Amino acid sequence: MESEYGVTSYVAGDPCYGSCDTFPENDSELLGVDLVFHIGHAISLPRLGSRTIFVDVEDDVPFDEVVDKSGEMLRDIRKIGLITISQHLHMLAAVSKLYEQMGFQVSIGEGKGHLKDGQVFGCEFYPAFNIRDAVDAFVFLGQSPFHAVGVAISTGKPTFMLDPYRSVVEDMTALCQEMMKKRYLALALAKEAHRFGMIVGLREGQVSVRRIRELKRGFEAKGRSVQMITMRDITNDHLQQFRGIDAFIQSACPRISVDGYTFDRPVLSVPEAQALLSMIDGNDPGEFLSKSHWL
Ligand code: SF4
Repeated sequence: MESEYGVTSYVAGDPCYGSCDTFPENDSELLGVDLVFHIGHAISLPRLGSRTIFVDVEDDVPFDEVVDKSGEMLRDIRKIGLITISQHLHMLAAVSKLYEQMGFQVSIGEGKGHLKDGQVFGCEFYPAFNIRDAVDAFVFLGQSPFHAVGVAISTGKPTFMLDPYRSVVEDMTALCQEMMKKRYLALALAKEAHRFGMIVGLREGQVSVRRIRELKRGFEAKGRSVQMITMRDITNDHLQQFRGIDAFIQSACPRISVDGYTFDRPVLSVPEAQALLSMIDGNDPGEFLSKSHWL
């Protein structure tokens, strides 16, 4: 940008966790930045806010070999749902054709919310969730257990990840069960808590004050005390200063909770907090992550 066009440019040096994590408008204002290019994440809108333009990045790695290998693992399955992340969306049609030639019936779910047809985020699964009853299993294209296991948890269906770089097919079932065990444990521990810290995440697209206020009212109605907290990066280190809190609830990114980063005390996502409210009333938590969107 500088050498070709003489435009002053900065590279954002902080980590960026997803399409929700856009460069803050206030920071752009302070720096006098007119345009922000958000490269590599894609949503169904080309532009967000007044400055951010999403730049799609396509990965041309072929899937032929790994699709061929998957035939053996999928031998008892007839109907598959195809799903992927933004980098491989352009491969869906070709991979669908390959599976049809192998005798499978293939479905690709329609886009909804921020998602395009066949796309998932780590917290939003409409194209998979909405066709879960029409398929026997999901095939996820890409090297991302993070997204593939999200599909497995959300839909409750067997999910196979096709890693085109290593040419390996992975069944997500064991990882899914391991993660869910930890979430049930976190819920059981949080049920004993009396003092809750409720965290509003401050990353640009993760600010959800309404959700936290709803939950605050819900927990206070059940005799729990609530301290509202703001935080940009929710880490165990940052939580140490809140000594008087038994458990936390955060409305920033559900995967901070669901992926079980090492926290000393339970840190629940929004759907988990809703399940906890029901548990406090003596109900079973149910399939609390069997949802199309975890916020
Ligand atoms: S909230 Fe988390 S999982 Fe959802 S898009 Fe943002 S970073 Fe990804």
